[in-house]
Amino acid sequence: MLKKISHIGLAVINLDRAIEFYRDVLKMDIRGRVKVESQGVEIAFIKIGGTTELELLSPLREDNGVARFLAKHGPGLHHICYEVDNIGERLAWLKDHGISLIDEQPRTGAEGDKIAFANPKSMLGVLTEFKEVRKR
Ligand code: ZN
Repeated sequence: MLKKISHIGLAVINLDRAIEFYRDVLKMDIRGRVKVESQGVEIAFIKIGGTTELELLSPLREDNGVARFLAKHGPGLHHICYEVDNIGERLAWLKDHGISLIDEQPRTGAEGDKIAFANPKSMLGVLTEFKEVRKR
């Protein structure tokens, strides 16, 4: 089933300013920053507590979900991500229970893990990501 909350995704307009805010005002540790050209986003990871993270998402282009989210809602809470043991089994189980999946098959996330999103319309309004962590 679901092991834990992996991270909370936050949509931001300006990644540099958001990093400054979290680092300098909230005194949080920025763990890394990566451009994911295939998804048209740049992501910064912030550690909080033992294993949970914040994922700051900023669009590199206008033709992706984060850009559309920002245009519609402005910056803020974008998605929640749960870590799972076996993402293939989890997606099949969700489908069997009538959950609409954005990703029918897992894809590779920013750090090489297997990820998939479920449609917020099937998840009580919450855009939900599932992640199987790659063995490191
Ligand atoms: Zn995420």
